Amino acid sequence: MNIEQIYKDSSALLEGHFKLSSGNHSQFYLQSAKVLEDPKTAKLLAEELAKQIKESGIKIDAVCSPALGGLIAGFALATALDVRFIFAERVDGQMTIRRGFEVKENENYVICEDIITTGGSALEAAKQIQNNGGNIVAFAALANRGFCKRNGTTNSPKENCKLPNNVPLFALDDFTFEMYSPENCPLCKDGSTAIKPGSRGN
Ligand code: ZN
Repeated sequence: MNIEQIYKDSSALLEGHFKLSSGNHSQFYLQSAKVLEDPKTAKLLAEELAKQIKESGIKIDAVCSPALGGLIAGFALATALDVRFIFAERVDGQMTIRRGFEVKENENYVICEDIITTGGSALEAAKQIQNNGGNIVAFAALANRGFCKRNGTTNSPKENCKLPNNVPLFALDDFTFEMYSPENCPLCKDGSTAIKPGSRGN
């Protein structure tokens, strides 16, 4: 399965000159929600991710996603794994599990995101599961930005990866691209102007 092509075909992988939320510039931008716009594509990707997890032999009882970004990917993964799905959400900046969701003692959870950058939100959701007595046996994402090491590759995690290195991260592909400070951006030097992705009238 050519994940990069699926992202391109869904306009989820954009090429141009972008100003990222960090302030850095990049030639590429991942608009993860776009790849999940077509439910058939979401199902296909989640089934591929579920296959990787099943092949690892790790037993999963439930999927938990941090809202908002991880919800669709997590729900699709839970469907493919045929397990429960719950989510964690921020209340006054603090990740919490509410809405009557119950974490049972010693249940095995996979934390699922649409994309893992440094894994900060995924880690916060994981801590909430653990505080409620559940186990974190895996992290999962459709796309990995290359800061953390995904299962099956030999890359080393970058120092800003927040995920624990004793729990595997399952992802469909690495999307590692160069980021430049505005002063050192070769695209700026070529005379083009960086745009904020998604800022065209929305
Ligand atoms: Zn630039």
